Amino acid sequence: MKDNFSRSVIIALNDIQLQTALDRGTTRGVNNRIVAMGETTDANALRHQARLARERALNHLPDLLQQLERNVIANGGHVLWARDAAELNQIILDLCRKHDVRRVTKGKSMVTEESELNHALEANGIEVTESDLGEYIVQLAGETPSHIVFPMLHKTKEATAQLLHDKLGMPMTDKPEDMTRFVRGVMRRKYLEADMGISGVNFAIAETGTIATVENEGNNRLSTSTPRVYVAVMGIEKVIATWEDYAVLVQLLARSATGQRLSVYNNLMSGPRRADEPDGPDVFYLVIMDNGRSRILGTEYAESLACIRCGACLNACPVYQNIGGHAYGWVYPGPIGSIVTPLLLGPTRAPKLPYASSLCGACQAACPVEIAIPDMLLRLRRDLVQAGDPTPGWRIGMWLWATAFKSPVLYRLGGKMAGMATRLLAGRSGKIKSLPPPFDAWTKQRDFPAFAESSFRERLKRRRGKQTDA
Ligand code: SF4
Repeated sequence: MKDNFSRSVIIALNDIQLQTALDRGTTRGVNNRIVAMGETTDANALRHQARLARERALNHLPDLLQQLERNVIANGGHVLWARDAAELNQIILDLCRKHDVRRVTKGKSMVTEESELNHALEANGIEVTESDLGEYIVQLAGETPSHIVFPMLHKTKEATAQLLHDKLGMPMTDKPEDMTRFVRGVMRRKYLEADMGISGVNFAIAETGTIATVENEGNNRLSTSTPRVYVAVMGIEKVIATWEDYAVLVQLLARSATGQRLSVYNNLMSGPRRADEPDGPDVFYLVIMDNGRSRILGTEYAESLACIRCGACLNACPVYQNIGGHAYGWVYPGPIGSIVTPLLLGPTRAPKLPYASSLCGACQAACPVEIAIPDMLLRLRRDLVQAGDPTPGWRIGMWLWATAFKSPVLYRLGGKMAGMATRLLAGRSGKIKSLPPPFDAWTKQRDFPAFAESSFRERLKRRRGKQTDA
């Protein structure tokens, strides 16, 4: 991943279609979540329960993973372990060869986005079709998902209709239901032709070795039960201890992700088809990938592994609302992506992301598992500073800033001088249109308002004086 964050942000801010799509999508996401959480008797108590469930899992991760493995095998499945993305792709490629697989249908899986599994399989002559509607549209467009839950959040329905018309000959329509019906017709054939189904995992319940996925289209159920081979792929952090924990987490996931009380399909897979069952796969594999997660465990960033990938923090984030997911440059966008990406890829691969936040706290307030996102972003900034990432200009600037803020006299003097300078530069309009470098980074995007004639303290003092006189 190349660090193009600043350039990508400018492109995103100037993309009118993206801005329209982001506005529609994130507003809907925020509002739906608020309504759904408001329907619970005590949303905060529920969130706290969810948090405890995730902590239980992370505190006992090695034991739970072993218990999960034992139970999956007892259920007739197979468990394979991948150290990293390359190993994951190789394992699945080997499974394709072993089972003579030519066509794959794939449900939503962020882990396979991490490993770019589609490219790896396609490079070896295997056809992969994304089965989630949003993922399928993104695949058709040759793009990557821009949101954890709504992969095509960056696309308007108008752009989607045009894409389906151009690529698949769909008659033009502005009705999403017509587009869905059309894609459904295409997908039905794919399910029937597929030799292997692959899906992500929302939760893996250790006590029974059950894989839980949630969805709203039935695509995952068809992807995993129609083909003869089913492969579930998960990161090590997806394991949870018990069904009680699942009961809490699954409803919070739906409420936070899509504003539903429960997702339409809650699929539970416990091994391959049994002799007395009419359908289901002949063979079932669970592939568990680390890819840097165990490095995070036990550090001050461990709680980032508690994330249940609901996407609520993305919708709530004023930065994501304006730049969308692609600007973040990798699989995980938004506030949680700004933490996970530098942690998984290394801080030097994404040095700007921890700064891509106003630290307003909207992400933490929205998070169903109470992850302290702003705290971790601050710690990552600290790490970057300690690693010597900032430029000399930045260091001098921060030193001047800290010195002025520690001294009331310097602070007041600095305020006065800055006030005079900005009013001089702004003139009668009260707004500076262009600042000299390096401050022009600000005025390239927006005006800089001149400071007020008198400071807040001065006005308060005058007001208090008048009140005392009165
Ligand atoms: S950090 Fe919290 S709000 Fe954001 S995706 Fe993860 S669980 Fe959802």
